[in-house]
Amino acid sequence: MSTRTTCPYCGVGCGVLATPDAPVAGDPSHPANFGRLCSKGTALGETLGLDGRLLYPRMDGTRVGWEAALDRVAARFSETIARHGPDSVALYVSGQLLTEDYYAANKFTKGFLGTGNIDSNSRLCMASAVAGHRRAFGEDLVPGIYEDLELADLLILVGSNTAWCHPVLYQRIQAARAADPAKRLVVIDPRRTATCQDADLHLALRPGSDVALFCGLLCHLADHGGLTVDPGEALAQARAAVPSVAATAAACDLAEADVARFFAWFAQTPRAVSMFSQGVNQSSAGTDKVNAILNVHLASGRIGTPGATAFSVTGQPNAMGGREVGALANLLAAHLEFDRPGDHAVLAEFWRAPGLARTAGRKAVDLFDAVGRGDIRALWVMATNPAVSLPEGERVRAALRGCEFVVVSDCSALSDTLDYAHVALPALGWGEKDGTVTNSERVISRQRGFMPMPGEARPDWWAIAQVAARMGWGEQFAWSGPADIFREHAALSGFRNDGARKFDISALATLSDAEYESMEPTRWPAPAGGVPTVRFGGEDARIVAVTPRDPVGVAGAAFPFLLNTGRLRDQWHTMTRTGLVPRLMAHRSEPFVAVHPDDTALHDGGLEDGALAELRSAHGLAVLRVCHDPGQRRGELFAPMHWGAALCGQGRVNSAVNRVNDPISGQPELKHTPVALASWEAGWYGFYLSVAPPPELAAWSALIAEPGGVWRQEIAGHGAPEAAFDALLARLEIGAAAPMLRDHYGERFRAAVIEAGRLRSVLFIGRTPTLPARAWLAGMIGAEVPAALRLAVLAGAPAGAEAVSPTICVCHGVDRATIAGAIACGARTLQAVGEASRAGTGCGSCRPEIRALLDAASVLEPA
Ligand code: SF4
Repeated sequence: MSTRTTCPYCGVGCGVLATPDAPVAGDPSHPANFGRLCSKGTALGETLGLDGRLLYPRMDGTRVGWEAALDRVAARFSETIARHGPDSVALYVSGQLLTEDYYAANKFTKGFLGTGNIDSNSRLCMASAVAGHRRAFGEDLVPGIYEDLELADLLILVGSNTAWCHPVLYQRIQAARAADPAKRLVVIDPRRTATCQDADLHLALRPGSDVALFCGLLCHLADHGGLTVDPGEALAQARAAVPSVAATAAACDLAEADVARFFAWFAQTPRAVSMFSQGVNQSSAGTDKVNAILNVHLASGRIGTPGATAFSVTGQPNAMGGREVGALANLLAAHLEFDRPGDHAVLAEFWRAPGLARTAGRKAVDLFDAVGRGDIRALWVMATNPAVSLPEGERVRAALRGCEFVVVSDCSALSDTLDYAHVALPALGWGEKDGTVTNSERVISRQRGFMPMPGEARPDWWAIAQVAARMGWGEQFAWSGPADIFREHAALSGFRNDGARKFDISALATLSDAEYESMEPTRWPAPAGGVPTVRFGGEDARIVAVTPRDPVGVAGAAFPFLLNTGRLRDQWHTMTRTGLVPRLMAHRSEPFVAVHPDDTALHDGGLEDGALAELRSAHGLAVLRVCHDPGQRRGELFAPMHWGAALCGQGRVNSAVNRVNDPISGQPELKHTPVALASWEAGWYGFYLSVAPPPELAAWSALIAEPGGVWRQEIAGHGAPEAAFDALLARLEIGAAAPMLRDHYGERFRAAVIEAGRLRSVLFIGRTPTLPARAWLAGMIGAEVPAALRLAVLAGAPAGAEAVSPTICVCHGVDRATIAGAIACGARTLQAVGEASRAGTGCGSCRPEIRALLDAASVLEPA
């Protein structure tokens, strides 16, 4: 018997079938994915173990019972408010929360603690989209639905590596294009990402110049009779900035012909969709970028009809749910507003909350600044890891360190933020939680529990309600389960709503427990007695005048590169879940910095591929593996944002990221920091493989889960390799108690511990990063090593073996060399590669990389 639930990772919100003792599968009936899943989704079953889980409440690092922990939280929040006022406390929550948890947290904070100080990590993800929607529509409306991506004849992906970050949407787009090859795809992104692989046009624009591009498009449409609405001041400002194609191309650092082609395609194509994501939102001009995009759709009538819209996709599974319940500091619940007359009274009445906060609270970066200054003295962090994810990480960690009282609710014990917790509360994980989430196309789906609650982990809404009761508000938080909360949330959306608020799901306010349990995916709005609206058009929308402005930091002598940060295909957030799944670690297993190969010449050859480099900004630093990538623009770097202290503390790239915010949305500019990149001056590189996770062994280390319960630690340090080797042998007690093979050849040093004929561990050290491939050795850990193979162990590979190449297809474990072999043997299409090697025949997330290998091979073929 399968449980129908939803994937907890990205904002696509795929339906999942979870069946005992079987791999998870996509839900064929779910409207987001119709049975598809990506690599992360297919690996969900591998995240259900209890390794790395926080299972019991802790106070000051010591296990306690829930009663003691809840009493202390309630007492400290009460005392702090009594002494310093409501704004001395705060909650920092997450798009990982279910809507019911989110609703409880927002009601508790704004309604009863009496402060607006609740913000969500969604501030880092799509706050600019929210602000842009509110400016244009007067409310946070996503006008389109996923089907529009398939129906569009021209799809424009702006600041979105869809192939990696929203893979199932990309699969849907690719399927639609395969069925109708006339459909065009334009990708607007400074980087040549996997998403560009199948694009008809890639505009690698200057970072931050999106407003100029879309203002230029507005002018072009005006000049060619392409507008259906007078954009007024928006057009005047656009003309002042980028009056022509040439001016737009210059502003965006693009070829004029490419800009002209894009503008012509848009002007010719009524069914056009612009889908945007973090590349637009994570910017000091993010809100203006959103409105620049919305403007061209509103002014040209390309919105609200099938295949024509502007579409924001969220990063997190329930970012949209958080927006519905108002769990951002500047929002009230149910799309009510702090500054709209009458809204405060409506919410205070519904919640019976006379102390409801009257003003907006602090947004994420500002909130942690206030913690650092001591203005916020009690902080409850829920389902997020700000010690890793916020910009200027060291400043955030210092703020947490100095905070008088920190509560952390999390399902994972691997969150860096737990290091600062006075009280740690164990939360439920995926498979245990029960509630709802809303995806990027406004579809509310049930996330159903199918596993027992482990240890003493409990739902977040329950912990909030328990604390609220201890603080005297038991009556307002007397919920018996998530269905109760959902009904209240749905009823609020319709309360005194005369149609002015489009977010209305009051049709769901009377669901019985059984109906809630079996609820099908439902798109909002769903008003009681009303007709659901599928798409929103631009009837009452505003075209907002925007003008291009540069990002805040510029590259200069001290910091000559611009750093962009983002996500990897197979990882999620700070890796507290995906980082423990070996097959998800196979694609990219270490934190890296991508740099154009020609840029390395600037640094005397010290930045060769595979070496370690120190990335430094005015705010902090990280040490990352150099990865040459011709898809980078010269002078621009990319680094993934995932790594935290549990796997690679020095890979925390957000330590170096600046804290500049969009002035309207408060969203940090995570994609634009001036940095310097220099050799880390490693004296040696190495790796250690064993069955138990080793302690940090070197000045730089990255821990990697390998198949079969094996752990790999990549290591590097300063000084001479031989001295490092001897020191590590002593530290690991290799040779002291166990038989050891030891060898060195040239400047490579290697040791292998074989006990009772089985390989227990290996240590390899060398002066350069060029060391044996790890996969074969990792597979040998725990295996019998016949005498004939002992030399092979020290060599790192059996005689005659070819070097192991990186895994491309994680579903079937197919590496790059195997795919290249299939291509060399005549496979010329994705299908042919799949038939020859199985690569790309699973979830499909790897198909853009296979396409890149096919394209590279075709370039090399004789004409
Ligand atoms: Fe999960 Fe992948 Fe679907 Fe996103 S696209 S919801 S990560 S299965």
